[in-house]
Amino acid sequence: MASSAEVAQPTTDPLPTPSGVPQNSAGTVAWGGAGMSQDPVAVSSPWGNVSADSPQVMTSPTSFRDLMSEDLAKDLDEKENEAFYQSLVEQPADLGSILSSQNDTSDDLLLAQMLQYEFDREYDQLVQRQEKIYNGNSKVSVSFNKFKLCPTWYGPDSDDELKDIDDEHRAIDSFEERERMDPVIPSCGYVKQGSKLVTKHDLDISGRKNAERFMNLPPGINTGDGGGFDMHLSNKVYNKLCRSAMTDIRRKQRVHDKVEKATTEMALDPKTRLLIFKLVNNAVLDSVNGIVSSGKEAVVFHAQGGVLEDRPLPEDCAVKVFKTTLTDFKTRERYIKDDYRFKDRISKNNAPKLIQLWAEKEYHNLRRLRRAEIPAPDPILIKQHVLVMSFIGADHQAAPKLKEVRLSSADLSLAYEQVVEAMVKMFHACHLVHADLSEYNILWYEGKCWIIDLGQAVEPTHPHALHFLHRDCTNIIKFFESKGLPKLPSPLQLFEKVSGISLPGPEESAPRMIEEYETHQELWREGVNSLSDQFEFLWQEIQLEEKQRKGMRLREEEEEEDDGEEELVEMMMKQDDKHREEEAHKELDRLGDLSAAENHGKDAKNSPPSQGLNISGAASSGQGGKVLSRSCEKQSKKRKNKSKKSK
Ligand code: ADP
Ligand code: MG
Repeated sequence: MASSAEVAQPTTDPLPTPSGVPQNSAGTVAWGGAGMSQDPVAVSSPWGNVSADSPQVMTSPTSFRDLMSEDLAKDLDEKENEAFYQSLVEQPADLGSILSSQNDTSDDLLLAQMLQYEFDREYDQLVQRQEKIYNGNSKVSVSFNKFKLCPTWYGPDSDDELKDIDDEHRAIDSFEERERMDPVIPSCGYVKQGSKLVTKHDLDISGRKNAERFMNLPPGINTGDGGGFDMHLSNKVYNKLCRSAMTDIRRKQRVHDKVEKATTEMALDPKTRLLIFKLVNNAVLDSVNGIVSSGKEAVVFHAQGGVLEDRPLPEDCAVKVFKTTLTDFKTRERYIKDDYRFKDRISKNNAPKLIQLWAEKEYHNLRRLRRAEIPAPDPILIKQHVLVMSFIGADHQAAPKLKEVRLSSADLSLAYEQVVEAMVKMFHACHLVHADLSEYNILWYEGKCWIIDLGQAVEPTHPHALHFLHRDCTNIIKFFESKGLPKLPSPLQLFEKVSGISLPGPEESAPRMIEEYETHQELWREGVNSLSDQFEFLWQEIQLEEKQRKGMRLREEEEEEDDGEEELVEMMMKQDDKHREEEAHKELDRLGDLSAAENHGKDAKNSPPSQGLNISGAASSGQGGKVLSRSCEKQSKKRKNKSKKSK
């Protein structure tokens, strides 16, 4: 609210009259101003009494329109506030001192304004503190000024103050300023300063340059501040500081990487944690305890079973969390890709889906084993890539792997029998080939062999199932052999026992025979019941085909030989003809000579010219005739052969 003193000073002064009496714009004498009378008498005004000796007596009158103007009131109010705050800034005293100096607490407005000011100042200090915390040591700071309540002209960050701070900063980085003043060294490497020659190796210059470069390192490297002194850093110190800063950054990154890698290695990314948390939350699991094993494909936890669909779960459960690292997928794809159960369900680019399928595969395979009463974990639940099954072991300890136990010879042979029985059952009753069966995936618990890790198990119709089976057989035989179990069959014999397929060949050719067999599996799949019969049939087929192929090759070779002979004959015949021609010419010449001689006394009748030709022909063709006849024979034979073939 405006006081009477300021009201007497309107912003738009009325035009003065020639007589010096203030008038309004209409030329009439203004209302209510002290100028109405020169008497030093107290004048009453609507805003209070104006004392006669107050300086306002000299104020000019104000028009009624101006007095009623809201703009004027606002303007006056702002001016009043400004004056008040200015007074506070000029004499920075606390509330108490202001009050005591004025000794007047009657002005409620003043009190309220002071209290407000005090409150605003405290709020601004709080904002300032938060700003400091937020920015920390960062070189780039964010200003919270716009959140402050006090107008900047009296607040702590007034322009003047900022200017001061800037100056201060300039002082801190004084080496920078000085560096700017250093002479610029041209490419020649030196510059003349009066009588002095300054080179680029000048200690002061290079030191300042290093200091400036160091202070300009990217955020995140704690350089401290220049501390208001002419900082110099020698090359050696500068390089060392940079190296240490880089090492620091790298170390921080490594730690970060390690943390991330650890979570992927433990397969417990946030999503998996949430999955397990939900299982506990839904009381499916009472609790999840420590890690039992961190295998190549999965992490296995021990968990306390809860209740699932009103069915109490085993007290000890194993939670298998499949790893989600991409590198493993390539090897897994091979087992899933050709399994008809998973056909059309995977796309190459959907890695999470592939893992889920893998887990699902293990779940279903375990169920088959359980149905066939093969000792294996009881699958309980599958949730994405988390498989819950019964726990094989006691006291939160997984049963030892066959690899780890020391068995008596009786137990060893028992174990072998159990494994073979399990393999046979798996093949015939479950229609499965484990595909990774070894002493690592068989647990020894309560005198029994428990088959685990069935993620990669495939159906016998899988294009490589028999190859996998033979590999399993090899692993098993090798293991028991290493343990000294006598009278073991060869892997191929075990293969035959498990699959019922007899391969008529030596052990060494087993992989080739299996491969050949697998390539002909389509026929086998097309419905002949007896595998061995089918195999025999296929085997004969293969042999027959091979024989035919061989026969064909022989015949072709013969023909090739014949063709060669023909060419030779033709060549010889050509040569023969030439030879005969030459001989004939010679004979003619000779006869010509003879007749000439006869003309000189011998009887020319005894040697007719044609005979001479014939003789020579017969004599020279003694051989040529034979060749010709042979070649004709061959040609006619070949023609016959060809006609036979075409028939
Ligand atoms: P990976 O594919 O990683 O080899 P496995 O299924 O073989 O995974 O499990 C790894 C290890 O976890 C096993 O060697 C075994 O010690 C333990 N384990 C797996 N399943 C069970 C289970 N049902 N009960 C007890 N221990 C288990
Ligand atoms: Mg395993």
